Amino acid sequence: MEKHIGSCMCGDIEFCFESTPTNTLFCFCKECQALTGSDKWFGLWVPKDDLKFTKGTPTLYTRTGDSGNAVNYQFCGTCSTVLCAEVTAGNFYSVSATSLKNNQFDPKMSIYASSAPSWAAFPRDVPKFDIMPPGMNKK
Ligand SMILES: [Zn+2]
Ligand SMILES: [Zn+2]
Repeated sequence: MEKHIGSCMCGDIEFCFESTPTNTLFCFCKECQALTGSDKWFGLWVPKDDLKFTKGTPTLYTRTGDSGNAVNYQFCGTCSTVLCAEVTAGNFYSVSATSLKNNQFDPKMSIYASSAPSWAAFPRDVPKFDIMPPGMNKK
């Protein structure tokens, strides 16, 4: 299997995973906008056990997601790059595609499109959902 390697901007934190993400998506929710300073987060869903931190220890920030379960963000305490968010409702990480050294994934859907700013540009030819599609964020 191919190894996907990612890091924060300053290089203090590195991680890797080998599995193919179960989903790849643009999330336009308000929290992702605040987090990225942009209109969206490009997340790769990686089963929790498949992601390993290989250098450094990320800092945690926890918020409650729409499901009522915790979303644990893991970011670099030095340069503030957000590397991934542990979605405890689904037992997976939403890994920042932007933090991969060689991202080869495309977004397969857009979610929380109803929260997107008016100037957001959605990728063509992929499904677009107003919120999280039902049943996706399984417990
Ligand atoms: Zn860093
Ligand atoms: Zn989001």
